[in-house]
Amino acid sequence: MSARSILDGGGIALEDHHHDLRATMRAFLERHAPNELVNELDREGRFPAEIVAGLAELGICGATLPERFGGSDVDSTSVAIICEEVQRAGSCIASAITPTLTFGGPAILWHGDEALQQRLLPGIAAGETRIAIGLTEPDAASDLSQVATRATAVEGGFLVSGTKVWCTGALDAEYVIALVRTDPAATGYDGMSFLLVPTDADNLEIRKIPKLAGQGTASCEVFCDETFVAAENLVGELHGGKRILWSLLDSERVYVAAQTVGVAQGAYDFALAYAHQRRQFGRPVIEHQAVGHRLADMACQLTMARLLAYTACARADRDEPYSLDAVMAKVSCSEIATRVVELAMEVLGAYGYSVEYPIERFYREVKLFEIAGGTNQILRNVIVKNLQPPRGT
Ligand SMILES: Cc1cc2nc3c(=O)[nH]c(=O)nc-3n(C[C@H](O)[C@H](O)[C@H](O)COP(=O)(O)OP(=O)(O)OC[C@H]3O[C@@H](n4cnc5c(N)ncnc54)[C@H](O)[C@@H]3O)c2cc1C
Repeated sequence: MSARSILDGGGIALEDHHHDLRATMRAFLERHAPNELVNELDREGRFPAEIVAGLAELGICGATLPERFGGSDVDSTSVAIICEEVQRAGSCIASAITPTLTFGGPAILWHGDEALQQRLLPGIAAGETRIAIGLTEPDAASDLSQVATRATAVEGGFLVSGTKVWCTGALDAEYVIALVRTDPAATGYDGMSFLLVPTDADNLEIRKIPKLAGQGTASCEVFCDETFVAAENLVGELHGGKRILWSLLDSERVYVAAQTVGVAQGAYDFALAYAHQRRQFGRPVIEHQAVGHRLADMACQLTMARLLAYTACARADRDEPYSLDAVMAKVSCSEIATRVVELAMEVLGAYGYSVEYPIERFYREVKLFEIAGGTNQILRNVIVKNLQPPRGT
């Protein structure tokens, strides 16, 4: 039986290796990605290449890949812990890692042929090959069935034409894994495929989209105009994009939920330390009930969020269906995290607003998680479809 308190993960089905992973990552990131540096990277729009290289040395970039490709093939809860800790350090750090870790790498591993796996997965595990996710388009966002980027078969490959938007990390990635229409006659989710579009291809342009937070890893527009992509960069079957997309969405949502837990944890940790140290009316502000209760609420909500995320992970690791768990975790955790960060801002007062402290950055970063990974409105549509009336009504 674990002697840890619930706030340190006690009572949750975590094993020693989970706690060790968190401790290792936190020590590394607190040392190499302090608030001042993350703010500087965002201010200058500078990709955190050295931090990514350090994380790769710790084995983080290969966490979702098998050993034969240089990875460590950890369980879902470990991946969630990685997502939490990189996001606790800052959005630009998380966005530099997670698209490849939780989407690009698994897409190739689960659906790519042996040649594609041999060619790309060792580089991904080493942190040298990065993949940005290219789902969203100007007119196909929540409704990806409207994807209009087309890939026309030509000798040796495809000519890709269209625009992807919000492709996070594309400027510093080797590939965009793009959802494209390969069968022009098909409609809806049919006739789509995933192609790995090299970011240094001819007839391809990448432009930064200015955004509220995490600017160190830019979100980008990617313009393709008859861009040639070799046939060997097709992921899975031709026209098999729908199956690949569905296979990745559940885990993607759980890991977004875990990221939100990371922001909430960062805000809570900072606010708690501050409330002990900051004195007003002759005592630490935590001793004023209004402040203390905010911290109590933050601790409860943070723990609830973590339990939801880890419950979905545990079901994934037991090979149980976990789509609904994933959606509920993503919606609940992201909204809890927004509230926790707001409370942290209130605990700090004016210094919550100062760019010298991390709370204002968490405040800017946290809202994204109600939008990305499927908006919470869309995901509520999914939840309500799963709600059954009580028996006998
Ligand atoms: C910083 C950032 C990074 C991102 N990174 C990536 C990335 O790397 N790769 C990628 O492919 N995409 C990325 N995205 C895009 C993200 O996935 C989309 O923003 C998201 O899918 C929703 O699209 P939208 O914001 O354009 O909203 P829209 O789909 O245009 O919807 C607008 C509003 O209407 C609501 N709405 C629409 N339809 C319904 C409905 N049926 N029922 C109820 N409400 C509805 C939505 O919830 C939303 O509030 C990123 C976005 C941001 C902001």
